[in-house]
Amino acid sequence: MGLFKRKPKFIAAVCPQCGGNLEMDAQLQTAYCTKCGAHCLVEDVQIRKPRKETPLQTVVGFIERQSDLNRKDRAARQQQREEERAARRQQQEEERKEKAKSAKVAAIVGGILLVVLMIFAFVMAGLE
Ligand SMILES: [Zn+2]
Repeated sequence: MGLFKRKPKFIAAVCPQCGGNLEMDAQLQTAYCTKCGAHCLVEDVQIRKPRKETPLQTVVGFIERQSDLNRKDRAARQQQREEERAARRQQQEEERKEKAKSAKVAAIVGGILLVVLMIFAFVMAGLE
C-alpha cells in the first residue's frame, strides 16, 4: 500500500561522453545515449542533480551580481574620467605650445619691425 502512495522520483541521466540524454534499459543496468549512441553501464552514468538554491542564496547571489555590476560600472566610469582628463591635459598642452609659438613669432616680427624703424630713423637722420 505504501508502495503506491510513494511519489515516483525522476532523475535525469546524462551521457558521460557527450552529455546527451540516456535511455535506460528495462533492468536499469545499461543505458543508451540518444545523442551519440554510446552504451554504458549504469554504474558509470552521471546523475544530473539540479542545483537547488535556497531563497536566501538566490537573494545573496542577486545582490552579489548587482554589486559586481556596480563595481564594473564605477570602474568604467572612472576610466572614462581619466581618459577625458588626459585628453584635456593634452589639449591644454597643445594650446600652450601654440601660444608659445605665436609669442615667439610676435617677438621676431616685433624685433624686425624695431630694426626697420631704427634703420628708417637713421636714414631720416642722415638725410637732414
Ligand atoms: Zn552520448
